[in-house]
Amino acid sequence: MIQAIRGTYDVLPADVGIWHAVESRLRQTFHLYGFGEVRTPIFEATELFVRSVGEETDIVSKEMYTFADRDESKSLTLRPEGTAPVMRAYIEHQLQNEARMLKLYYIGPMFRRERPQKGRYRQHIQSGAEVLSSTDNPAIEAEVMEMLTTLLAGLGIPDLEVNINSVGDRECRPAYVQLLQSEIRSRAERLCEDCRRRGEKNPLRVFDCKVPACQPVIAELPTITDRLCDGCRIHFEKFKSYLSQRNIVFRVNPKLVRGLDYYTRTTFEITSGRLGAQNTVVGGGRYDGLSEELDGPPTKGFGFGMGLERLILSIPDAGSLAPDYRPEYFIAALGEAAFDHATLLARKLRNLGRRVYLDFDARSLKSQMRLADKLGARSVVIIGDEELKSGTVLLRDMSTKEQRTIKEEEL
Ligand code: ATP
Ligand code: MG
Repeated sequence: MIQAIRGTYDVLPADVGIWHAVESRLRQTFHLYGFGEVRTPIFEATELFVRSVGEETDIVSKEMYTFADRDESKSLTLRPEGTAPVMRAYIEHQLQNEARMLKLYYIGPMFRRERPQKGRYRQHIQSGAEVLSSTDNPAIEAEVMEMLTTLLAGLGIPDLEVNINSVGDRECRPAYVQLLQSEIRSRAERLCEDCRRRGEKNPLRVFDCKVPACQPVIAELPTITDRLCDGCRIHFEKFKSYLSQRNIVFRVNPKLVRGLDYYTRTTFEITSGRLGAQNTVVGGGRYDGLSEELDGPPTKGFGFGMGLERLILSIPDAGSLAPDYRPEYFIAALGEAAFDHATLLARKLRNLGRRVYLDFDARSLKSQMRLADKLGARSVVIIGDEELKSGTVLLRDMSTKEQRTIKEEEL
């Protein structure tokens, strides 16, 4: 038997309702805040991710599904994240000239070759939003945080924690990174091999390390939060005051650097107490300069990515949000003539917008009633020879078990 690839999963009809509910809630919220949907391909030139996400990140160094195209002229990669493709589309279609296309959102699959576990898959669904702008006003960041916290609270998710940080910019980060590098070097023998390599190539990445033995050493390292330049410090202070004005409770976490290289200034994560080890539901930050990095126009950017599996796992009574797709009418036919009539009646009811189910494999009334019950049909319409002759149907309400004969037109 051929099985689904490790780290992937099927969503079956019984469980798809919650996905529809979450997706429609997301779209509604995004539209309230003026975002428009963008749909980009699921594969891109490998170079796009190498140049934007960064070579030393976990994503690019070990998680991407990369392959040569058949003619081997080009290296392609299944997208591991959504910001780089959105930026690519923004630049390619010169969206900076279209005022209404600067707030963009997406919902779709991402691919990362990670060790599968609860809340971590090789194909997962992410929804994200990006605000692209000529201004880096921290009110943009606060508005996005407001949108997210409102959305998550609206879905009934308890125990949320908002962690924020500033990772500095071109002015203050270089000196800090140098300091960090020398502090890492002086502790190299107590750090894992990955940390030592990152310490040389991209020291900030050391804060992403998940090896338990490295954690006490990492705790000794200097943080950027105390070494921000005036511009970054004022930006961060304003951001925090905007959050407070909105009653958004947050914690400043100086070690929050996030797993992608393109971030500058504000970074953030929202975690859920209902998840285990993989507790980050949303992660994001500011990425001024990413557009220029990809040969685009000068642009300031702020956005996030949210894992929808983790989002759904953290909703306490997720099933109750699912829309009702159960049949409104189950038509049970007795005999061939009644069955033929039933198929036409089903068409009429469906044309009127009713959900109707018909058993093509019917043996007895009993078996049809059992199926109707299993499907959770609201009513069963019974048609036999008698009803056929008189143009009536027997209508059974499945919750009260009451039955009455009515004219077919009445139905
Ligand atoms: P983590 O530290 O959990 O690996 P990350 O820093 O790699 O997360 P991002 O790249 O910021 O995560 O992705 C944004 C969000 O997408 C995450 O917060 C998470 O909810 C979700 N996500 C990321 N990778 C996976 C995965 N392999 N399976 C399921 N969800 C994921
Ligand atoms: Mg990761």
